[in-house]
Amino acid sequence: MAKLGLRARLFLSHLLVMLVGVGSLVVTGKISSPRMFVSHLEKLEGPGFTLRYARTEIVRGFETVWNRTTFWAVVVGTTAAGGLSYLVAKRIAQPLMQMEQITQKFASGKMDERMPTLEIPELNRLGKSFNRMAASIEDVEHRRRQLIGDLSHELRTPLTVMRGYLEELADGRIEASTEIYLRLVKETRRLERLVNELQELSKAEAGHLPINLQPVNLRPLLESLVEKFSDQILENGPVLKLDCPPQLPLVLADIDRTEQILINLLGNALRYTDHGSIVVKATTEADKLWVAVTDTGTGIAPEDLPHVFERFWRADRTRARDSGGSGLGLAISRRLVELQGGQIQVESQLGVGSTFRFYLPLA
Ligand code: ADP
Repeated sequence: MAKLGLRARLFLSHLLVMLVGVGSLVVTGKISSPRMFVSHLEKLEGPGFTLRYARTEIVRGFETVWNRTTFWAVVVGTTAAGGLSYLVAKRIAQPLMQMEQITQKFASGKMDERMPTLEIPELNRLGKSFNRMAASIEDVEHRRRQLIGDLSHELRTPLTVMRGYLEELADGRIEASTEIYLRLVKETRRLERLVNELQELSKAEAGHLPINLQPVNLRPLLESLVEKFSDQILENGPVLKLDCPPQLPLVLADIDRTEQILINLLGNALRYTDHGSIVVKATTEADKLWVAVTDTGTGIAPEDLPHVFERFWRADRTRARDSGGSGLGLAISRRLVELQGGQIQVESQLGVGSTFRFYLPLA
């Protein structure tokens, strides 16, 4: 039985049910019908009306007719039921077999395989769930491939630079000098930063990053960061200002993660702003506290804006890489903001400046 296909098993089980039904009908009919007929005849007979010898003939005639009718009823009934059962079995088994083939193709790597619309509502629902699952697996797979591609690209550059220097040193083509060693250290640092940021991003994306939400006053944090970053600005660089009311409502946030977001935003603002100003502004709106970092730097082209929060995305790959950017900072920031129940946005105009703003829910 186990070796038979589903269609055959369904058909046989229908057939079995039908045989049991017909069998019991025939047996009960065979046993009870003649008796009931005879007792009916007996009721008809009364004083002045007897069937006598004709009675045996009548009973025999009834049996013959009953047998013939039952025979044809069984033949026609079984054929009709058998045909119907075959059709039903086919109707159920065919989409199931189709589904099995599709899942197998999907499992073997054909990520674009999807279930068609099926006639049976329950199977159709199953098909739709499969399609949703398939779409999400395809998306993850696509992102995984993209990440590996991006990552190899990112790792290749510092590794090539380092190998170049080391080969030249080994061949005696260049003299070992502090400058060379510092360049090697710089490339190693970049690799180290890349690996750390990647780990951070993967933790944040997988939701494994512990987020310790507490009611916090962001003002002291904003003040200390503005002070710290002001120290890094060269004399003819932009001015860094804080625009924040003296009393800020408390937000429900993880202070360390919020600091990390602000360091990323301020670091970027500083990196892409040669002169003018960088303003950190805090405002309250309904149940949100918005923090905006506005700079008068290079700005971002409109077609690039939708991509700035994507990992490894950089407007100008070579320039940003030279300045140490990995293209992961904003991707991490966005995840950190979202993990705290907020959102991050960007507005920018090429040559005018950019504003990165995010909100955190009030406590
Ligand atoms: P990176 O480490 O390269 O700065 P980010 O994810 O922080 O990576 O930023 C991604 C890209 O977005 C940057 O390479 C840069 O092109 C652009 N960008 C981010 N912040 C600014 C800004 N304040 N002004 C101009 N461009 C910016």
